[in-house]
Amino acid sequence: MVDLKGQYEKIKDQVNKSVLDVIESTAYINGPEVHQFQKELEEYLGVKHVIPCANGTDALQIAMMGLGLQPGDEVITADFTFAATVEVIALLGLTPVLVDVDPESFNIDVEAIKKAITPKTKAIVPVHLFGLAANMDEIMEIARQHNLFVIEDNAQAIGGYYTTKTGKKLKTGTIGDVGSTSFFPSKNLGCYGDGGAIFTNNDDLAHTVRGIVNHGMYKRYHHDVVGVNSRLDSIQATILRAKLPHLDSYNKARREAAKKYTEAFSGIENICTPSCGCDAQHSCNCHVFHQYTLKVKNTDRDALVQHLNENGIPCGVYYPIPLHLQKAYADSRYKEEDFMITNQLVKEVISLPMHTELDDEQIQFITQTVINFVTK
Ligand SMILES: *Cc1c(COP(=O)(O)O)cnc(C)c1O
Repeated sequence: MVDLKGQYEKIKDQVNKSVLDVIESTAYINGPEVHQFQKELEEYLGVKHVIPCANGTDALQIAMMGLGLQPGDEVITADFTFAATVEVIALLGLTPVLVDVDPESFNIDVEAIKKAITPKTKAIVPVHLFGLAANMDEIMEIARQHNLFVIEDNAQAIGGYYTTKTGKKLKTGTIGDVGSTSFFPSKNLGCYGDGGAIFTNNDDLAHTVRGIVNHGMYKRYHHDVVGVNSRLDSIQATILRAKLPHLDSYNKARREAAKKYTEAFSGIENICTPSCGCDAQHSCNCHVFHQYTLKVKNTDRDALVQHLNENGIPCGVYYPIPLHLQKAYADSRYKEEDFMITNQLVKEVISLPMHTELDDEQIQFITQTVINFVTK
């Protein structure tokens, strides 16, 4: 699915040297590399504050803690996403409210958000799934009307853009009150272990969050709030510093591979290719293709998975079970008719290999193998 080795080979000398330098420096925790990476990511994203932390799940949790969400507060998020998003809501004693998604973008459905709002609703967590921005104009407007926080789960879309109605291009993760990301190795900007970060333009929130990631300490050994221990280590930070300057070209390589996949599948019955995020008015929501996900119609999707695997092609089903049907997150308040889209998507989606090192020969072999199966 991903070729981390091929990508590493191209930056090996620099990465190896910087990792050895960190080891020599012995500044393993909160060292200068972490601070430098923070500054460089702030500049790249055009956001006032980046607070690095240990992983993308912590980033979401800490963002919610920083906003002061309290047990019983309802938080609306998508039914079709990785479990981390709903997990932290539940872990903090908040009430997750899962809603359906849009069948084209795979992102949270704006009408479903509106329907789910109650007097207890405090926040919306849009996930920019597979690298495509959610409908942020509408989500920010709903949040403004109902006085809700917006926490963007940007784990799959770092480096992507959202183009607003007025034509402004904003980096995903910097539009809501707070954004979070993950530097898990297979993410678009991945380190060689776990890592994550929180983004915000709000000075007070940034201050609160900086304390929370470090045991609630704002002054050494003075614990003003209940915090956690969630840090990005210096070795991961130095690897991320080596990779950040390549992020745009990594995302470009993903977009180019996606374009070739889509061209190869054009006109093939039973295959729906993913939207690239651009609409007829040429407003381009820059998809960064964390995943390239097809919907297959009139086809046994699981048999297709098996067929690809037999031909040596890795593929993935993201995600096979809607969150509202997971044992941990089932809730008697949910009605099946409110999840028509996710219930359908889990049967139809299949994600093809997507990374920065895909070549034409591989794409040709993958697309031909898929086409042979669906048209047989
Ligand atoms: C990967 C991911 C996370 C969690 O990130 P970790 O670094 O693995 O904790 C959260 N949300 C989404 C949508 C993700 O894809």
